[in-house]
Amino acid sequence: MVDLHTHSTFSDGTLTPARIAEEAARAGLTAVGLTDHDTVAGNDEFLSAGAEHEIEAIAGVEISAQYTNPETGLKDDGEMHILGYFPWWNEKTEAAMSPLAEIRENRRERNPKIIERLQQLGCEITVEEVERLAQNDVVGRPHIAALLVQKGFVKNAGQAFDQYLAKEAAAYVPKEIFPPDVAMRVIRDAGGVPVLAHPKTLNIQSDEQFRGVLELLVSHGLLGIEAHCSSHKWHDTQRFLGYAYLYSLVVTGGSDFHGSLKPYIHLGTGLGNMRAPDKCVEELRARCSAL
Ligand code: AMP
Ligand code: ZN
Ligand code: FE
Ligand code: FE
Repeated sequence: MVDLHTHSTFSDGTLTPARIAEEAARAGLTAVGLTDHDTVAGNDEFLSAGAEHEIEAIAGVEISAQYTNPETGLKDDGEMHILGYFPWWNEKTEAAMSPLAEIRENRRERNPKIIERLQQLGCEITVEEVERLAQNDVVGRPHIAALLVQKGFVKNAGQAFDQYLAKEAAAYVPKEIFPPDVAMRVIRDAGGVPVLAHPKTLNIQSDEQFRGVLELLVSHGLLGIEAHCSSHKWHDTQRFLGYAYLYSLVVTGGSDFHGSLKPYIHLGTGLGNMRAPDKCVEELRARCSAL
């Protein structure tokens, strides 16, 4: 079993990359991937820890992409996230991912705006407090949610999102992100494999509309789809395995582990019944060497 979708302290997870590799080995996984939001800075530590704990560690990243739901025409109806995997990680790969710095800069401009709105709504928190909690340069809404819980303004992170941080909620501010073709180009130029993350979050019901989006992504360089996800029921997994077959896409799987920021998601098994097979990694490697 493998888990190819995890977040560390380099973005909005609570375990260090080394701890993720260690815990994955302890859980008996054969491979684990690190996919922090908008940064590849944790990958060196991750790969070293993988070697130390004798588990295959795959370097990666997760990039949010601009998205309009084709069924509703709405920008706030669904999310598109692109995972990038680098089975042959090296210094050149890292340098090629430098365009992500622009997105991190956009986050730095966005966070004070969210916090200003929260202050207007009576939540007395500061940018400094959020930055201290996050301890890295990929500060995001989950950190703000954690601070709101810590300071007693909400009961839990779910309430923080519902009341303040979710799209259309009172303190929501969109962030400047790349269109999918740019996100995938950056990954491909770095020698990586772009994969559509948790495809259900596109929130498309019809087969025809979903295929329309997928075909466009494939024409722009998409090579894989995350068919095994925490949130998937059996029939969801089957549905996306079908699309993988149809478009010759690599099948991947991952829990979207965030440590204690999402305590209900477990490394390797997600909500308890995710099973991503070992062959995901073999397929990923094969596709990467075929670039
Ligand atoms: P950001 O990158 O700052 O926009 O935050 C994105 C993160 O917020 C992702 O890890 C999401 O899983 C998380 N997130 C988005 N919406 C929700 C929600 N309604 N409840 C909990 N977490 C959410
Ligand atoms: Zn996250
Ligand atoms: Fe995601
Ligand atoms: Fe994720």
